[in-house]
Amino acid sequence: MKIDLNDILIMKKKHVCGSDRWIVTRTGAEVKIQCEKCGREVMFFKPTLEKRIKAIEKINKTEKKQ
Ligand SMILES: [Zn+2]
Repeated sequence: MKIDLNDILIMKKKHVCGSDRWIVTRTGAEVKIQCEKCGREVMFFKPTLEKRIKAIEKINKTEKKQ
C-alpha cells in the first residue's frame, strides 16, 4: 500500500469527533496523520496504520510529477 503526502485516509474506525477522514502530513517508517474535522494529529508505524485503513483518496493523482 502506497501512502503519499496529502492523501486522505478513510479509516475503518471513526475518530471520537465523528470523522473517519485523515490527511497524511508526514510519511516514512512512521506516518503522521491529521484528523480532517478536529485537527488532531497522530503518528502510526506504517504497518499498524495500514491495518486501520479502509480506503485511500489520492489528492495528487492527476498532478503527479515526480
Ligand atoms: Zn477528529
